[in-house]
Amino acid sequence: MIGKKSIKYRYALNLEDAIVDIGAVERLSENAYWCISCGGDMIPVIGEKRRRHFRHKVVTESCSLETYLHKSSKYLFLKVYKDCLTEGIPYEIQFYRPKICKRCTTIDPCTMQHVLFNADITKHFKHVYLESKDGQFIPDLLLSSDASQKIYVEIAVKHFSSSSKLSSENKIIEIKIENEDDLSLIRACRLSEDDGRIEFINFERKAIIKDYSSECNKTVPLFILNPNGSSTIKMVSWFDYEKLIKNEKSYYKVLDRKNPSTYKRELEKAHLKGLKIHNCFLCRYHGKPTARQHEETGNSIFCKFLKSLFTSNEAVKCKYYRADQSVFRNYKKV
Ligand SMILES: [Zn+2]
Ligand SMILES: [Zn+2]
Repeated sequence: MIGKKSIKYRYALNLEDAIVDIGAVERLSENAYWCISCGGDMIPVIGEKRRRHFRHKVVTESCSLETYLHKSSKYLFLKVYKDCLTEGIPYEIQFYRPKICKRCTTIDPCTMQHVLFNADITKHFKHVYLESKDGQFIPDLLLSSDASQKIYVEIAVKHFSSSSKLSSENKIIEIKIENEDDLSLIRACRLSEDDGRIEFINFERKAIIKDYSSECNKTVPLFILNPNGSSTIKMVSWFDYEKLIKNEKSYYKVLDRKNPSTYKRELEKAHLKGLKIHNCFLCRYHGKPTARQHEETGNSIFCKFLKSLFTSNEAVKCKYYRADQSVFRNYKKV
């Protein structure tokens, strides 16, 4: 519990019911000020040594810090936002949207990390209302555009937005205020999701699709057929792929996945296309090693002619190699 005598407020209301920052009050000001929370008379304290503040003329038990923070946040937002509108100063909001790279045109979209999207809301939201009724709700502040778009700004000192407000489709910016220093969030003219005290609810987070050429981390399974007839599937980054395809001596194909059957399928396709390929899987003499042989050697070919185990690229240097379509199983030309 805060001792009532110690309450030193930075803000009070003036005759026009507008919020006043003690920093803007003249030393010998004779204006009258009221407490934003309890409505009691306030005196500006502008000493040489002490921090400037407003003090209650009569100390009252009914003044609550929570109400003060809630109300001053609302009045402050209203003033700051109106000043932005009249003086042409941007009031920005920043929230995260997913980012999709369109550089790598493969089967799966390339979803990258999220990106902080920045918008100056004064461009569209030209009207601001304090505690104005909107359907069944009374948002702390209502921003509206000429095209009837709306944003609610809610100040959460202790109470967060009600679940019905949250489940409505209204866009809500919730600002958590715990002490007077938090009011700087509102004065900064930038509400950012990067700050844990600010939450964006029901905002449409459409993906930003761009050529993120320098940031794309996508790797793709690439079938590579070398000039000597050997082949492989490798995972390569999209940018290595873009560099590789400039070498026209080899044949490249981006696959949707990397596994043994896609490999065999690409071998058969390459052969049927008339490309120079030598691979035991295409040879009439190739057989399957036993599970045990395969496990022990890692070789996937048992050559029925040489009666020995090999990796499938052995065909490149084998003089008995005979490609034979009658042993093809993975790809049928249509
Ligand atoms: Zn008060
Ligand atoms: Zn990409």
